[in-house]
Amino acid sequence: MKKVILSREELHKGTLILVNERHGITCDAPGELTNVDADIQLERQTAVLLEELMREIGGWSSIVPVSGWRSRAEQQSIWDSSLRENGPEYTRTYVALPGHSEHQTGLAIDLGLRQEHIDFICPAFPDTGVCGQFGKRAADYGFILRYPAGKEKITGIGCEPWHFRYVGIPHARIMTENNLTLEEYTDYIKQFDSPLHPYCIRVGGRAVYVSYIAANSAQTVVEVNETAPYYISGNNVDGFVLTQWRNFGSDLPNTDRCNTAGKAVVGSANYRYAGKRKV
Ligand SMILES: [Zn+2]
Repeated sequence: MKKVILSREELHKGTLILVNERHGITCDAPGELTNVDADIQLERQTAVLLEELMREIGGWSSIVPVSGWRSRAEQQSIWDSSLRENGPEYTRTYVALPGHSEHQTGLAIDLGLRQEHIDFICPAFPDTGVCGQFGKRAADYGFILRYPAGKEKITGIGCEPWHFRYVGIPHARIMTENNLTLEEYTDYIKQFDSPLHPYCIRVGGRAVYVSYIAANSAQTVVEVNETAPYYISGNNVDGFVLTQWRNFGSDLPNTDRCNTAGKAVVGSANYRYAGKRKV
């Protein structure tokens, strides 16, 4: 086993960081950015997966990217101009406060139906046609619909059918299959608080184990199996999420099993979730 030492700063980095009104961005420099079109940039891996999804569904014929990565200054300028043009109520419902927008992470994209007039703040993104196909396939490429209808009290944001957030494939699958927002998932995964008792999901013939590690005040030490791929993301709140991939059926730890539906059968803690604006 290899020991990975995580600094306090790393709590605020990674594809699973929760960014909302309560949890702001501490670092305004996402990883490497890549152009999606002439004006719009995304974090590199997010852009790659978006492109693969679009290629599969022939998406760019009917869908346009409306907004990707924004600097804090850009978010401030959107906030200020919306306040002038639309007033405080609309602005608070659909525009995130500077420092609290997922767009500042480079992991979020607003998409709109390709048409003559596109509303920059609330673009049309119907659940039919190619847009509908995008929504159905999003989780398989690591994206979640970040602000779904019916979850406004949890996300604090009005329903936004156009705003997708990259979180990584296994996590998007778990969230979508269990109807969890990122706020809920961040809490939900905490019950799997040991790499020996992970959430387990089967993705593409491989077992993926997900577990939570609470952050210590200075450094956090995580033990990982270095013979298999792993990824550690901060949650931007209080801990880290460890994701480990294994070849299915080959080297499963004997305490862990995936069932055929890919649902967790390990860990017995009962989860109950006790929990409006644009981003
Ligand atoms: Zn957005």
